[in-house]
Amino acid sequence: MTLKLGVIGTGAIGQEHIRRITNTLSGAKIVAVTDVNAENANAVIENEKLDAKFYEDGHALINAAEVDAVIVTSWGPTHEEFVLASIAAGKPVFCEKPLATTAEGCKRIVEAEVAFGKPLVQVGYMRRYDQGYRALKNVIDNGKVGEPLMVHCAHRNPTVPSSYTGDMAIVDTFIHEIDVLRWLLNDDYVSVQVVAPRKTSNALEHLQDPLIVLLETEKGVRIDGEIFVNCQYGYDIQCQVVGETGTANLPEPSSVILRSEAKLSTEILVDWKQRFIESYDVELQDWINSTLKGEVNGPTAWDGYAAAVTADACLEAKQTGKIVPISMPERPDFYNKSGALVNS
Ligand code: NAP
Repeated sequence: MTLKLGVIGTGAIGQEHIRRITNTLSGAKIVAVTDVNAENANAVIENEKLDAKFYEDGHALINAAEVDAVIVTSWGPTHEEFVLASIAAGKPVFCEKPLATTAEGCKRIVEAEVAFGKPLVQVGYMRRYDQGYRALKNVIDNGKVGEPLMVHCAHRNPTVPSSYTGDMAIVDTFIHEIDVLRWLLNDDYVSVQVVAPRKTSNALEHLQDPLIVLLETEKGVRIDGEIFVNCQYGYDIQCQVVGETGTANLPEPSSVILRSEAKLSTEILVDWKQRFIESYDVELQDWINSTLKGEVNGPTAWDGYAAAVTADACLEAKQTGKIVPISMPERPDFYNKSGALVNS
């Protein structure tokens, strides 16, 4: 069976997902597309030679009989509305992060999904599909470093545009660490503090850069996460887990090791899009396969909610300089129903 997909939002990532589903992945085809910019959506249909229909808006697309499942890649503030509409229509939905721009919005989605009675929502936290993070999780889950005690991690971008705001350091950048570390450690957060080191002279006036986010988990693991978005030298994601009997590092992306001109060197990526490019393919193929089986295998609405609650606490901690408690309501049994959801 071929899964017939409708895509809401044909901007940067929407177009990339359309291309990978059409040219690289199997089991699905794009049959419907919409964007507030109709010209852009129609150009995508034409340029990608899609056998797809343009819909005037997201709701018409979601409710179209020919659409089996929905991909939401529109602007963040529209996600909640389209995910809720997909649930109301009983259609599986893959939503790029964020699930909603507020924790309250994520909670409404969780409640709607639980009320519907069947998992339908997956959130686009693609790092869980990265080979390196999966290998690291495997090492931790198999007890190779003993019980995790500390995590040191860093999220570095060479530069950011002037439109990048202080809050984006948390809600756009560090949000990936918030999700992936919770999954990696199979643990939840209980508190956060945000510390501002000496500011780099390369950051714009309005931006405190770098930042250090200090998270504590239920099991007592301490995480120090550096966010440094004007590091100049490259896009660099680091993660080291220190356990009772060893340490485990996230592998570096594979790159030629060059011996030349009396130097031993490897290149560092600069473009963030390249760093996790393969994980997007794995993520969407897995979503297509599990959707065809009527399952949700990846990050759930609950995970999207947990990330939003944590991000809110990080923002408060950044603003106040205080240690802010993080508390999640009890996880509904609904999210414990299948093995996949338990591990999410
Ligand atoms: P983008 O290039 O701005 O694309 C968003 C598109 O959605 C634009 O074409 C926009 O049209 C359209 N849009 C806005 N409101 C809409 C509505 N009500 N109905 C239909 N279309 C609407 O942004 P992007 O970089 O693709 O990002 C999209 C989402 O994906 C964001 O939430 C972002 O955080 C997420 N994302 C995730 C990753 C990841 O690593 N997982 C990477 C990139 C992006 P206009 O431009 O005309 O407003």
